[in-house]
Amino acid sequence: MLEPGGAVGVRGGGVGGMIPAIKSSIDGLEQVTVDITIITHSPSCSICLEDFAAYYQQEPITRLPCGHHYHVHCIVQWLEFSHLCPLCRYQMPTKDDQSN
Ligand SMILES: [Zn+2]
Ligand SMILES: [Zn+2]
Repeated sequence: MLEPGGAVGVRGGGVGGMIPAIKSSIDGLEQVTVDITIITHSPSCSICLEDFAAYYQQEPITRLPCGHHYHVHCIVQWLEFSHLCPLCRYQMPTKDDQSN
């Protein structure tokens, strides 16, 4: 019974919990080919739980800066919802502050 814009904000109270990652950080994610090292360290995608072995040396997958691996489509959907790595809660950028 959740209605966008309705009076549903009183419960939960998780303000700031779900912040999407900035699109440029999603676009800039590193893509790697599945090899034996990846399968050893990250045997499956923690979002959909599918085995990476099926992708061995075929489709590229995404590696987050924290070193965790996910399907490209899985992590893109995830980061559009939450900027935290599902495994270790590494924080992806939520705003453009690449100034240096
Ligand atoms: Zn996946
Ligand atoms: Zn991580």
